[in-house]
Amino acid sequence: MDTILVVDAGPSCVKFQVYSVEGEGRLRQQLKGRVDGLGSGPRLRASGPGGNPLAHRAYPIEAVPDVAAGMDIAGAWLRDELRIDPIAIGHRVVHGGPDHDRSVLIDHGVVARLERFTALAPLHQPHNLAPIRSILARFPMLPQVACFDTAFHRTRAAVADHYAIPHRLYAEGVRRYGFHGLSYEWIAKTLPRIAPKIAAGRVIVAHLGSEASMCALSGGRSVEGTMGFTALDGLPMGTGPGQIDAGVVLYLISEKGMSASKVHDFLYRDCGLKGFSGISNDMRELEASEDASAKLAIDYFVYRVGLNAGMLAAALQGLDAFVFTAGIGENSASIRARVAEQLAWLGVKLDAAENVRHSQLISSSASLIPVYVVSSDEGLMIARHTLALLMDGNLKNPRHESAS
Ligand code: ADP
Repeated sequence: MDTILVVDAGPSCVKFQVYSVEGEGRLRQQLKGRVDGLGSGPRLRASGPGGNPLAHRAYPIEAVPDVAAGMDIAGAWLRDELRIDPIAIGHRVVHGGPDHDRSVLIDHGVVARLERFTALAPLHQPHNLAPIRSILARFPMLPQVACFDTAFHRTRAAVADHYAIPHRLYAEGVRRYGFHGLSYEWIAKTLPRIAPKIAAGRVIVAHLGSEASMCALSGGRSVEGTMGFTALDGLPMGTGPGQIDAGVVLYLISEKGMSASKVHDFLYRDCGLKGFSGISNDMRELEASEDASAKLAIDYFVYRVGLNAGMLAAALQGLDAFVFTAGIGENSASIRARVAEQLAWLGVKLDAAENVRHSQLISSSASLIPVYVVSSDEGLMIARHTLALLMDGNLKNPRHESAS
């Protein structure tokens, strides 16, 4: 059985999935797992398609010191115990920089280019690249594909790609990239099956998870969004503030004496729902809390989703549908209901019963704009890109990039 391994390596955890390649290039998830607790208490856990447990083991801290070692543990388990020998590995890579508008087959030159974007995504890029490098060194003939969170947005117009700063900074890469591209691409590819006419029109997708963003799709292409140079911009997130006046950052430096690394940690770890509520970065805990600060943090989140929807509707010059996805978007009927209230001026009306049931279509027949809940599957998107590159026959020329 041919299989594709999908890897999503982050700062404290390596997530992996195995897909079998079936007739006509269809892909079926065989298992998923993760190695987490790096630096505290490393564990490998994996389960099969129905959630049946396949592995749950602990390792000494020194045996799994970093992400590359975490990948080695997962790889050895797949290879030696399950006899899984993938035909290719697809990696989630957060930043493809200005030039990558599609997935790419990896070689040493690609890795060197992607390393240059570490400064643009310091939290994720080094961890995305670590397993790629170690697999390239140990299994140089095994095809690896990089799938970028930025690539889907590279089609945006110049006005949506720039900041009002001197051009030399744009030229060196200070641009509005946008992220969550694999999730938005999944939605853009899935919508034609759900609502073909709408998919060809103007759609706002709200990816509301621990990290949250929104994207304006026109005819299935990304035209505008809430994230920019980094994933810090836009909506408030679990621990990030979202849109914030650059003057606040200057204040932290000049008045509070914070160093660049202190400001970095503050913005990535101490703000957002967590910093604002002082309670939790987890929306479930905030929704369960009676505390006034939890309520205000939720009010702010909902308000900012509404404000940004207005901005994106302006970018699209109208709206044909609104889509919720990711952890909060797919699971919290109450947040969806409150966001829908913010969109009432656009003619949005939810069907309360369908919303509580988490149905795919949750707007009422009286709504001017249909509202959908669509779960995004970034892992399968990566597996598809990886298989597409293999099937294109580009392996004969590993330096060649191809649409996927
Ligand atoms: P990420 O992939 O960015 O870690 P997810 O898409 O998994 O994030 O979303 C995580 C967020 O979704 C958390 O804030 C979590 O509280 C929220 N979430 C998950 N299920 C629910 C639920 N039933 N109600 C409210 N929030 C939920």
